[in-house]
Amino acid sequence: MLRRSIDDIKQVTVMEKLIKGFELFRKVTYPTKQRLFKKLASAQAPHTLVITCADSRVVPEYFTSSEPGQLFVVRNVGNIVPPYAQFVGGVSAAIEYAVVALGVKDIVICGHSDCGAMKATLDPKSVESMNAVSAWLRHAEIARHVLEENYKETDVRSRLRALTEENVIAQLDHLRTHPSVAARLAAGKIAIHGWIYDIETADIRLLDPETRRFVSLMPDIDDEGGEDSEGGGKGGNGAVSKSATRKAAESAKSAALGRVGSARSVAYAGGDL
Ligand SMILES: [Zn+2]
Repeated sequence: MLRRSIDDIKQVTVMEKLIKGFELFRKVTYPTKQRLFKKLASAQAPHTLVITCADSRVVPEYFTSSEPGQLFVVRNVGNIVPPYAQFVGGVSAAIEYAVVALGVKDIVICGHSDCGAMKATLDPKSVESMNAVSAWLRHAEIARHVLEENYKETDVRSRLRALTEENVIAQLDHLRTHPSVAARLAAGKIAIHGWIYDIETADIRLLDPETRRFVSLMPDIDDEGGEDSEGGGKGGNGAVSKSATRKAAESAKSAALGRVGSARSVAYAGGDL
């Protein structure tokens, strides 16, 4: 009974915090963005579909400084996209809606550091008692097989990093099986991107489609794991120098920006969004 009361009090406190947060938003943020909310009241035109993890530390609107109405975000355990033929559910419906109805021109699959879903994929026994989680994570098993057969890493941190990267690559492959995406990819009307967000350093690593390697957007960050992974992963050829890393980051960035195109940049400039 006492336990129950403590839990109740805790719950009230959390709810109070949320309500106070809303009141602050209503009082401070909302008045400065009324034009935006008026514009969004009857329509949305997001430019990008972001598929990322449900992890509470990964908030794409926050780390891309985006406003409401700009990103169509789908979050699930492990930023997974089930192959179209195997499983048509909420993720498939959201992809189809974003692509066909909203006409997004870019899709980002964003994994992240310290991902619980990836840890569970490395150690399936840890989620054995959770039937739904275990079943869902089977869509990431392909990444574990790639890891087991192609990587030399043995320490947990490097294995987790490599699995997180291979999972993003695998889910991009699954994304291509969705008819609405495949049709637009073939016509060059849509671009797909792989990202990994690092919670601690606030870095993003972009997938370079040419090399199938992830390249840091902030190469000056002292991230020992990055160079270990690039050097020791599949096909690695030793340590990568800082200047080479910076150069690779620039080329990955311009490859990503090149796909956006000037027409759309103009379309989104100057408005409230
Ligand atoms: Zn996660």
